[in-house]
Amino acid sequence: MTYRAWFKCINPKCGATYPLNTVVYSCHECQSLLEVEHDTEALGRRGAAAWMKLFEERYKSNEWPYGAGVWGKKEWILPQIDDRNVVSLYEGGTNLFWAERFGKIVGINDLWIKLCGNTHSGSFKDLGMTVLVSQVKQMISEGAPIKAVVCASTGDTSAALATYCAAAGIQSIVLLPRGKISLAQLVQPISNDALVLYLDTDFDGCMRLVKEITKDPTLYLANSMNSLRVEGQKTVGIEIVQQFDWETPDVMIIPGGNLGNVSALGKGLLMMRDLGLISRLPRIVVAQAERANPLYRAYLNGFQNFEPITAEKTLASAIQIGNPVSIEKAIRTLQQFNGVVEQATEEELAEAAALGDRTGMFNCPHTGVALAAMIKLLKAGKIDKSERVVVISTAHGLKFVEMKVKYHQKELGFPSKHANQPIELPARLDAVKTALDQALEARGKF
Ligand SMILES: *Cc1c(COP(=O)(O)O)cnc(C)c1O
Ligand SMILES: [Zn+2]
Repeated sequence: MTYRAWFKCINPKCGATYPLNTVVYSCHECQSLLEVEHDTEALGRRGAAAWMKLFEERYKSNEWPYGAGVWGKKEWILPQIDDRNVVSLYEGGTNLFWAERFGKIVGINDLWIKLCGNTHSGSFKDLGMTVLVSQVKQMISEGAPIKAVVCASTGDTSAALATYCAAAGIQSIVLLPRGKISLAQLVQPISNDALVLYLDTDFDGCMRLVKEITKDPTLYLANSMNSLRVEGQKTVGIEIVQQFDWETPDVMIIPGGNLGNVSALGKGLLMMRDLGLISRLPRIVVAQAERANPLYRAYLNGFQNFEPITAEKTLASAIQIGNPVSIEKAIRTLQQFNGVVEQATEEELAEAAALGDRTGMFNCPHTGVALAAMIKLLKAGKIDKSERVVVISTAHGLKFVEMKVKYHQKELGFPSKHANQPIELPARLDAVKTALDQALEARGKF
């Protein structure tokens, strides 16, 4: 059986299509975003049970590249790619764990965390980048004159791009907003041989420049307006359902910035429904930082109109975006999934992340935004405590230690309820014993 996919314009009045090996990021006819469309009729002929069996057999196996979470679903992602051009670092297949203790504290029993940060470059961006860089490798092998792959980034996209390009032997170029990303995020592309441009602007400013420089077709654009990334990222929802033995949870909560990931989440779930693997869709919640909340504002007016904003500095730096590229796709997704948008202040996101950490997580601030949104929606009765809720954790906390250090040093301008400080004392038994007596006494419950 041969399966096929192509780019299609998302504007229903246009519907132009392009082969996947065309250098195209938005529609030449009407400038709308594109999405990858699959031959669902051909895919449907295989039958839902056969797909589930195939996906189960491949999941985390050692059969390269099909053991990787993304490539185990290759026919649904990028069917025409030659296995020799797949650039995979075994992405996907991340843990989904029951957050029992955190859930008890905030009043919900069936709460799960999908830890997308447990991956090669430490964020879910790997899921999309493996697909994009594989397609680029294939295009280069077919003779396309691509000299480098370029992205603007709030830190995690550039880390993923640099690592996959380094693995493939393709030059990467990353445009980063100076001082607005973490040290770990800066050192990742530096280590992975990227050309790093560090610019005095914000993400939206980097994005504007990237759109200009990639008018040169030898510089291939890797931002999520390139819908190849969405194809890889859409496996997250499919994988969650698979991990629940093909049962759909009630709610999925995802932090949103440029809004490619929520669009991807929806796309994967709709594909499962259309191919008969599930019959029910979850509700989707997008969580935004209050300081970078253009989607939340549009949600409040019923998506009547959307206004880009200038995002303010937020601890959740990877979602400090005021003019999200995938806004139209995200709104469409929210409408299809009975969606909700919630926001979190700096204090709410930091406290939620820290509370989670106290129960054994190690949250990045964006996961903090999602956890805070969940707590607020529970309190407001918009999520019921009997529901099965999955919070999508987007990055590894180790990428954001500066924020955690400041939190525990109480330097963030709010109380830091869960602050914990090392006790400095001389290395003498009596001093240690006295300190322990006092400290264990003082250690309250929360
Ligand atoms: C990129 C990113 C997001 C936001 O994803 P979008 O697709 O831009 O909405 C959230 N969290 C982390 C850690 C990220 O790197
Ligand atoms: Zn079009």
